[in-house]
Amino acid sequence: MDYQAILNVIEKELEHFDPGGKVPDYIPELAKIPANKFGMHLYCLNGDDFCFGDHDERFSIQSISKVFTLALAKKHGGKKIWKRVDVEPSGDPFNSLLQLEKEKGIPRNPFINAGSLVIADILISELDNPKEQLLEFVREISDDPSIEYDKKVAASENEHGYRNIALVNYMKALGNIENDADDILDFYFHQCSIAMSCRQLAKAFIIFANEGKTLNTNKKVIGANSAKRINAIMQTCGFYDEAGEFSFRVGLPGKSGVGGGIVAIHPGEYSVAVWSPLLNEKGNSEKGMKALEELTSLTGLSIF
Ligand code: GLN
Repeated sequence: MDYQAILNVIEKELEHFDPGGKVPDYIPELAKIPANKFGMHLYCLNGDDFCFGDHDERFSIQSISKVFTLALAKKHGGKKIWKRVDVEPSGDPFNSLLQLEKEKGIPRNPFINAGSLVIADILISELDNPKEQLLEFVREISDDPSIEYDKKVAASENEHGYRNIALVNYMKALGNIENDADDILDFYFHQCSIAMSCRQLAKAFIIFANEGKTLNTNKKVIGANSAKRINAIMQTCGFYDEAGEFSFRVGLPGKSGVGGGIVAIHPGEYSVAVWSPLLNEKGNSEKGMKALEELTSLTGLSIF
């Protein structure tokens, strides 16, 4: 498959595509991102890689981090995770509080904010140095020690994170939070602030396409069964109330973030990251979705 030729077609076709939408202004630091950024990077399991545009520029990974924290929690928290977080699509926005009361503080899945805050709580209970260990894990799977938290983004979200503050306190009231709310929020805002490029994200996500093994070292960092389950949750819950639409149009497991990034994987084939900051009303990068739709249409390959 000539992936570079296909990526060139996508770059050219979408050069003048106007996705509409806006950059997220509820985190002021993210509102500063130039809206016209566009890049894509794809890694095959054999290490071949293909790219275009702003693929080497770092951006805020935001909710894409929820996949990393779930993978780390599966390594350390084991089966008890599923007593505290469900695996059903929510059909509601990523920051919704609506379902929690009815479901007794058990979030619908680990990729909505409520679910990721419970995963953060589990990591704080299980790890000695949660923030350091998360960064080490992301650096290990990306084979890149330069990956860092963006302290400005974390501080900006901390100042304006009223919904997340409400979510964690509400779940504490309902008995599904063990640790101090401020510690959980500090960890969560830091995980969302991790800055990575499309290249680094595509490399990191190879573990989910490669039965838990990293690209460069072939080290098994999570079990094949964990990779399978995390992919299933990406497929059904990776795009909140647009998970069906992404599945319908792209046909791959994936995860988005309000920094404008999307990562998708084709198990056994490749992982791919795309970045375009303008978000649609569901909080997903519209041009990023379009680029991935083109990728699976032009290759004729998806998991379906
Ligand atoms: N940090 C963001 C928030 O909690 C992450 C949301 C997202 O990327 N969908 O609102």
